[in-house]
Amino acid sequence: MLRGVGPKLKEKLARLNIHTVQDLLFHLPTRYEDRTRIRAVGTLRPGERALVRGDIEHAEIVYRGRRMLAVVLADGTGSLTLRFFHFSAAQQNRLKRGQALECFGEVRAGRHGLEMVHPEYRLGGDDHPPDDFLTPVYPTTEGLPQSRLRKLSHQALEKLRLAGGLEEWLPDDLRASLKLATLKDALLYVHRPPTDADLAKLAAGKHPAQQRLLFEELLAHHLSLRRLRRELQNHPATALRTPGPLTERFLAALPFKLTAAQTRVAGEISSDLAQPRPMLRLLQGDVGSGKTVIAALAALQAAEAGMQTALVAPTELLAEQHLRNFRHWFEPLGLPTVWLTGKIKGKAREQALLDIAQGAPVVIGTHALMQEGVKFKRLALVIVDEQHRFGVHQRLQLRDKGVTAGVVPHQMVMTATPIPRTLSMSAYADLDTSVIDELPPGRKPAVTVALPESRREEVIRRVSEACNRGQQAYWVCTLIEESETLQAQTATDTAQRLSIDLPKLRIGLVHGRLKAEQKEQVMSVFAAGDLDLLVATTVIEVGVDVPRANLMIVENAERLGLSQLHQLRGRIGRGGDQSHCVLMYKPPLTDNARLRLTAMRETTDGFEISRLDLELRGPGEVLGTRQTGMLEFRIADLMRDRDWLPRVHDAARQLMRDYPSHVDPLIARWIGTGTRYSQV
Ligand code: ADP
Ligand code: MG
Repeated sequence: MLRGVGPKLKEKLARLNIHTVQDLLFHLPTRYEDRTRIRAVGTLRPGERALVRGDIEHAEIVYRGRRMLAVVLADGTGSLTLRFFHFSAAQQNRLKRGQALECFGEVRAGRHGLEMVHPEYRLGGDDHPPDDFLTPVYPTTEGLPQSRLRKLSHQALEKLRLAGGLEEWLPDDLRASLKLATLKDALLYVHRPPTDADLAKLAAGKHPAQQRLLFEELLAHHLSLRRLRRELQNHPATALRTPGPLTERFLAALPFKLTAAQTRVAGEISSDLAQPRPMLRLLQGDVGSGKTVIAALAALQAAEAGMQTALVAPTELLAEQHLRNFRHWFEPLGLPTVWLTGKIKGKAREQALLDIAQGAPVVIGTHALMQEGVKFKRLALVIVDEQHRFGVHQRLQLRDKGVTAGVVPHQMVMTATPIPRTLSMSAYADLDTSVIDELPPGRKPAVTVALPESRREEVIRRVSEACNRGQQAYWVCTLIEESETLQAQTATDTAQRLSIDLPKLRIGLVHGRLKAEQKEQVMSVFAAGDLDLLVATTVIEVGVDVPRANLMIVENAERLGLSQLHQLRGRIGRGGDQSHCVLMYKPPLTDNARLRLTAMRETTDGFEISRLDLELRGPGEVLGTRQTGMLEFRIADLMRDRDWLPRVHDAARQLMRDYPSHVDPLIARWIGTGTRYSQV
């Protein structure tokens, strides 16, 4: 590391993910300040950030609510009070009348004229010239002042300037054709821009020096996913011959015909599975588009070959829904389905593990399937539902379970988040994509309204009328807090109040604190039509399928993201009847919340909603990758920088073809050599 970095500082830097000199160089300023001009105190206006120089006229400790050091600085054109709430005895000693001082801070209007609270300062006056570059302001952490970070970055930049430091991995011809600076020049520029730099461009992340850096980062990520794909496809997989008698019987027993889109996608998957190379496929399809049948068909193709399929869902409830569907479909075919989640304990668990080890054809569960101790006999296919809640890493873990003697299972990932193509190529560059772009026939888009919570009575009346006509309804309670307990409490209270308001209705309650069997119980009573109203937390967001429910009330809808609202609303409108969704909100709405509610009223197109959601929240949130470590960029921003993506993809191809030796070091520089790529 660098000079003067002791254990304490090291720990603080680690909080910013800075472990090496290179990390420090990639830790970029979020903004800049102009400290190149010394301002006359008499010309300052409140709200400005300014550099001033003067002599201390007066300094004393005062009490105004709390103890503070007040220092009056004058430069002949006016005076300014500096206020310090935290100060050491040594500081107090140095800030004495007559001392020359330079300081920088935000000017505020105080009771006795202009002031600065906790300005950065430097003792001395004219003995050194002002900076000839803009001052960087870095993202920082508690107890690590800007001045300290700046000194460290200064050292790192000196190293870079003198020793070259970082290797240039973008070949000259590529840089020339894209008009990109060298890495070294770009870094020197963004850390210490010259005084005439275009601040607006820098603030927007659109400066060529920044673009050089984000380009390299996007390229490294893209290359890493491509490398992953190549590595995977270097391994053999079991070729599963095309559909046989089980598949025919399954299709014949289905109460509906596959849509054209389902048929096409099923064909794509089936021919992938017939290859001796592992399938790596992303299945995209809006909520309710019928992805589950596709998963079932893939599992059947494996079962026909005597091989196993593992189906993993991110929540118990969603996994349960799959279990119910699969058992319903597969039992008549004589195919048993094994159930395994974290909550299965003791004897039942042992039995499940035994069945899996002995080759049970279909295994359904949560991420518990990925844990140690679960051994498959001949796993040939891994299906992951709602991929965006899992990371690449978790997906690989499960896949590793199927590796026997170097033979790798096929992989299919299902998601209801339609992702624009360029983005999906970046987020899932290791996967081929199939899209179900058609809903089953007879679905009518839900009619959606947004109402302030003051109209609750009206909403309750509406629920009452609908249920009296024999319809069923959801009442969804939302809370921002992640705490399941709080959410459960809110839902319980709501159910209680509603049963007072609606004494004639049969009201049920589901939330995340209920045991799996209890949830299952309530859901199946609701599905059977023996409940009129189901009060629920967002646990029903995915999976639950009750065709007769066609009214949904969402409380505090302003708190939910667009994709989540869309997923929720996807629970209704599955029968043939017109469905209605009422989004209740608590005024006043933020601009962003207003946009979300408007979008929900105006469209039911999942693709459109996803596009808006990406704009409002950014891809990290939408793809759920923030927590999983995938798609974490230091500099790039997929949404802001999406216009670069086609060029990134071209450059990746060029690099792999013409400069293969640059690929690994480039990936290592940005992503590290971490354990993300499992060894097969
Ligand atoms: P998702 O893609 O959201 O997982 P599901 O697989 O749960 O959707 O399907 C939603 C509902 O549509 C289910 O009740 C399913 O049985 C039904 N379904 C699926 N495909 C068709 C089809 N081709 N025709 C009619 N209904 C279908
Ligand atoms: Mg589904």
